[in-house]
Amino acid sequence: METVEHCEVCGGTDFSSLMKARDRLHGIEGEFQLVKCRNCGLVFINPRPDQEEIKRFYPSEYGPHAERPGPSHAHRQSPLRRRIYSLFYEYPPRDQRNPVVFRVLLLPVKWVIARNVIPFRGTGKILDIGSGSGSFLASMKELGWDPYGIDISPEAVERAQSLGVTMFHGEVQDVPFPEGFFDVITLRAVLEHVHHPVETLCEVHRILKDRGVVYVVVPNIASLNFRIFGRFWYALEAPRHLYAFSPDVMRFLAKKTGFEVLSARFRSSTLGLRASLQYWYDDRRGFRGESPFKSSTVVRSAGKIWRTAMDVLRMGDTVEYTLTKDTSIRFEGSPGRVKDSVTSRSRANF
Ligand SMILES: [Zn+2]
Repeated sequence: METVEHCEVCGGTDFSSLMKARDRLHGIEGEFQLVKCRNCGLVFINPRPDQEEIKRFYPSEYGPHAERPGPSHAHRQSPLRRRIYSLFYEYPPRDQRNPVVFRVLLLPVKWVIARNVIPFRGTGKILDIGSGSGSFLASMKELGWDPYGIDISPEAVERAQSLGVTMFHGEVQDVPFPEGFFDVITLRAVLEHVHHPVETLCEVHRILKDRGVVYVVVPNIASLNFRIFGRFWYALEAPRHLYAFSPDVMRFLAKKTGFEVLSARFRSSTLGLRASLQYWYDDRRGFRGESPFKSSTVVRSAGKIWRTAMDVLRMGDTVEYTLTKDTSIRFEGSPGRVKDSVTSRSRANF
């Protein structure tokens, strides 16, 4: 275990104890202290498993790594979707036939079936950090993107490579990507897992194009569910989630690492209610047994209504931040961190 002396976000040294948490997903032994920085409000585990010790908390059945490549999101390729992507999200080839008529006709359809689509940008170079087994990037490839992924799981890297994605093993600081290389970078449920989120975002800033966009999806510790469920809140995910960010802390972190926050959209799942209830129930019963909550249709329906209400009130469990680069700030690269285990691809190949 390593002790964190300085707050990762503000550098402060004054922390208050928040609560003890443990691994409720896989039930791996251990209890972890969550603390809160009195200066900026960042919540984090302290002391925490170091980068070697944390590996045992990612068993082979860990969901995002074990995810199997599916039928590569074939539904996204329907002619209707292609037309919507081309009309509203700049996807090539641009649809030139009656664009105004189709825009009006298809606007309601777009709101129903294609609301959270990443608009196409520039040369279409996209990097997904913590890409798991690559099904997201495979679907992006079908839509015309040039997909790159990086993950700490060698098995996940192998699976994604089999889907035609250019993959790297390690963390983003381990790969010598050229400066200003990517149009879009995504960190979906990643920033809370890494030991050094500031270092990660500075590197993201360096390898992003000047007009590039970053999508960061993280759990929201300022959610109503956390206030209700406390140590049973499903997204505490100790000790895999080393950090828990509130919107205020995320804005501070973004500014510090050279980004402007364009938007913060609440996009929670039904797990906020279902899994948190399950963890509370497990604790009362003293075991991780059959799941009356996670799989219940009634709780699932209640979870849908609950998460929609929470998101509308901007108190949901998950937030997607859209960041753009403040180009007045520059960070030096860290190619010195390149490890032997990184899939070999020299700078000249980019
Ligand atoms: Zn702080």
